[in-house]
Amino acid sequence: MMDKETLRDEVRHWLADNWDDKTAAEVGVERTSYTTSKPRQAWLARVVEAGWAVPTWSEEWFGRGYSTELGKLIEREFAAAGAPGAGQDRSNLWANTLLAGGQQGLKEKLIPALLRGEVNMCLLYSEPGAGSDLAGIRTRAEKDGDHYRVNGQKVWTSGAKTADYGMLIARTDWDVPKHKGISFFFLPMKQAGVEVRPLRQITDESHFNEVFFTDAIVPAENLLGETGGGWRVLNTALAYERSVMGEGARGPRSGVTEAEDEEPLIALAREAGKINDPAVRQDIAQVIAYKRLNALNTARAKADLAQGTSSSVMSLGKLAMSRILHEEARVRTELLGAGSLLEGGDYPRAEDANFLSLNAYFTSIGGGTDQIQKNIIGERVLGLPKEPEVDKQVPFRDVRTS
Ligand SMILES: Cc1cc2nc3c(=O)[nH]c(=O)nc-3n(C[C@H](O)[C@H](O)[C@H](O)COP(=O)(O)OP(=O)(O)OC[C@H]3O[C@@H](n4cnc5c(N)ncnc54)[C@H](O)[C@@H]3O)c2cc1C
Repeated sequence: MMDKETLRDEVRHWLADNWDDKTAAEVGVERTSYTTSKPRQAWLARVVEAGWAVPTWSEEWFGRGYSTELGKLIEREFAAAGAPGAGQDRSNLWANTLLAGGQQGLKEKLIPALLRGEVNMCLLYSEPGAGSDLAGIRTRAEKDGDHYRVNGQKVWTSGAKTADYGMLIARTDWDVPKHKGISFFFLPMKQAGVEVRPLRQITDESHFNEVFFTDAIVPAENLLGETGGGWRVLNTALAYERSVMGEGARGPRSGVTEAEDEEPLIALAREAGKINDPAVRQDIAQVIAYKRLNALNTARAKADLAQGTSSSVMSLGKLAMSRILHEEARVRTELLGAGSLLEGGDYPRAEDANFLSLNAYFTSIGGGTDQIQKNIIGERVLGLPKEPEVDKQVPFRDVRTS
């Protein structure tokens, strides 16, 4: 059995031999993006090959069968070196979902490529008539020989333009109550039956899209879990998504950076000459305290998830992160005062403040709104009575819609 000291030495030696400033410059440090560059894919392949990407998984799936504690040790060493690719057994939404519910052939085909960042993915959940109430989806998948035929529409699909596959929920049975007739698929996106139309966001970016399916084809082997058992797979996938969103968010987009180790708000307060203002100090201290607390809470939720449950505590982390981002954006704007009205490249600080204020809505709506997280916390963490659901036992075909 591996002990911590030996493992720490092994990881440090490996990183010293493989990760240097030149590699870092080629690979990049961005946490999230919809596509992965070739140098980053090459780096991720080396991390996977060495067994550092998913160390808590079995050897069959590129892991080392380690405990969660040893897995985190590896992740910490990678984080300290600034190297990406470790900890995917907690953070790679797509690979984790596929490993948990996928068929052998699909897992063999896609898991290595997902870990190496060679496959682009998107989430095909929300529809014009089904967002918070996802169980009300109306996109249909009908079995036709060795594949399913998909018809319907999704919306707010981030990254759909570049995606190779989408994790799709579609209705396969209309004669059972709404949660029971849903199935979960890996749908190939590059096909004639899939049309992607970009949407313009409040930040002037265009990351999300409408997606239309007209007789789109998904092979039967791309079904995850049982037919009609998609709700269960979805809940595991949503918990992973919340954990990633609860962990952090995008930083300023101007590229202006503060000194390492300095909290950005402190740097800004110093720059604005307000660092000794007691009210400002109080606001900043509160944001920092929330962040630290939330990091601990997210770690607790991830420990639950590692034991194979879909943790409701993830909802706390996501809700807290959305509140932190709104509050941080507010403090940032107040520090800049009237300067925050100066938009554009001439004053990058203001551009950042305005971008972060608008982008804070990403976390408070995407992946389930703040109100929905509160419902989950109320019902599953605090044990409060459930909201009445009049249509829960009714065959979906008979559910009344506006
Ligand atoms: C940046 C961003 C990226 C996204 N990316 C994706 C993606 O990649 N794939 C995808 O499938 N979807 C994506 N979404 C969609 C997102 O998941 C939905 O917008 C979200 O679930 C809310 O659904 P809705 O927009 O239909 O709002 P609705 O469900 O119509 O909600 C409207 C309002 O009513 C409130 N509400 C609804 N039901 C309840 C309730 N029971 N109790 C209390 N309040 C309630 C909500 O909190 C909200 O304020 C993204 C959204 C954003 C903002």
